Amino acid sequence: MIKAITGTKDILPNEIPNWNNLEDIVCNAMKAFNYKEIRTPIFEETRLFSRGIGEATDIVGKEMYTFLDRSETSITLKPEMTASVVRALLEHSLDKQNQLNKLFYISPMFRQERPQAGRFRQFNQFGAEALGSISPALDAEMILLAYQILKRLGLSNFVVKINSLGVPSSRENYKNLLKEYLSDKLNDLSEESQKRYETNILRLFDSKDRDDQKIMEHAPLLIEHLDDESLEHFEEVKQMLLSAGVPFEVDPKLVRGLDYYTHTTFELVSGSVGSQSALCGGGRYDLLVKQLGERDVPGVGFAAGIERILLAMENEKVMPEFIPQIDYYIVRLEKELSKKVFEIANNLRKEKSVEFDYTQRSVKAQMREANRLGAKKVLMIGGSEYERGMVVLKNMSDGSQEEIAIKEFE
Ligand code: AMP
Repeated sequence: MIKAITGTKDILPNEIPNWNNLEDIVCNAMKAFNYKEIRTPIFEETRLFSRGIGEATDIVGKEMYTFLDRSETSITLKPEMTASVVRALLEHSLDKQNQLNKLFYISPMFRQERPQAGRFRQFNQFGAEALGSISPALDAEMILLAYQILKRLGLSNFVVKINSLGVPSSRENYKNLLKEYLSDKLNDLSEESQKRYETNILRLFDSKDRDDQKIMEHAPLLIEHLDDESLEHFEEVKQMLLSAGVPFEVDPKLVRGLDYYTHTTFELVSGSVGSQSALCGGGRYDLLVKQLGERDVPGVGFAAGIERILLAMENEKVMPEFIPQIDYYIVRLEKELSKKVFEIANNLRKEKSVEFDYTQRSVKAQMREANRLGAKKVLMIGGSEYERGMVVLKNMSDGSQEEIAIKEFE
C-alpha cells in the first residue's frame, strides 16, 4: 500500500474543525491589528532562500527540499515565509505603494528534518511581517499579536522570551569577543560547534551538547555588549510590552537560527508539548530586504507552528468541542420516492445543509443516521401524508412533529 511520505500527515475531516477554529482566530486577530493576507507560491528559486536565510543556517545547509526542474532551474519548496514575502514586496513594489506594509499568511512549509512529535517535514505556519518601519512599537506589536493569538486560542502554559541581537556593528564586535573567549577552548567543543565557530558562532548558544553548554555558560553575552542605540530600542520594546500587559523573560541566549535578525528576537515557548516546545519565533530583520533587492526596507515578523499549537491546545485541554450538525435529514419512507427526495434536498440546499440516504436503508436506519449526523430537523416523506400532499417535519431537539404541505419544499 502506498502511504504518505515520512514526516507528512493527512488532516482528516474530524480534525478540520480544530484547524478552521484556529484559522478563524488568527484571521480575526490579524484583522484587529490591520494585517492584510498574502499568499505566495509553494516553491521559489533556490537562491531566494540561500541568499535570504543564509548559507550557514541549518535550514539552508541541510533542511531544504531542493531539486532541479525539467529546465534545470534549482527549485526549493519554501522552508519559511519571510524571504518569499520580501520577494513579493519587492517584485510588486508594495513598498512604494505603502510606506508600511503589514502582511500575514497561513501556509504549509517544508523542511527535511528528522520527524518526531511536533516536528514534521511538511508543516503549517501562520505568521505576520511588518515592512517599512524601524519603530520599536512594531517589535512590541508583533510579540503582542503572537501572544494574543495564543491567548485567544485558550493557551496559558507558555512563556514569552525576548532578546536583542543589536545592530550589525555591535554584533560584529561581540562576535570577536566571543571568538576570543572560545579560542583556547576550541578543542573541547563538539565537532558541530567547531564548525559553527567559523560559520555561525552565535548558534553555539543553541548547542544540545552538554560540554558545549558548560563552556557557553560562562561566555560573554551579546546583551552586555550592545551599543546605546540597540539598548534604547530594546528598552522601548520592553516598556511597551509591560504597558500592554505581556509577561516576558529576557533570555540573553536566545539567538535564533537565522542570519537576518537585528535588534529584537523572541520566542513563545510552551510548557506542554515536550522537547519541540517553540510555538512561535520571530524578530526584526532590518537587513534582509537590502540583501534580496536594491531597496532598504526594515522589517519585523514572526512565524508560529500550527501543528505544535494544536498539540499544546490538546495537552492543555482547551480544544473546543465541535458537535457535528446539519439542518435537515430527509427520511424516505418508500424507495419509489428517491427522486422526490433528491429534488427537495437540492431545493433546501440553496440555504440549508441537508443530507439523505443514497442507499436503500430502512426507515429505522435512516433515523439512526439522522441522529449520527446531528440533524436539527428530520423531514419524513411518504405514507398517507404524502398522498395528502403533506410531509412530516420532526424537530429533533424536543421530538415535536408537525405536518407541512410538500409544496413548501418544492
Ligand atoms: P522557525 O521558522 O524555525 O523559527 O519556526 C517557527 C515555528 O514554526 C516554530 O516555533 C515551530 O512552532 C514551527 N516549526 C518549525 N519547524 C517545524 C517543523 N519541522 N515541524 C513543525 N513545526 C515546525
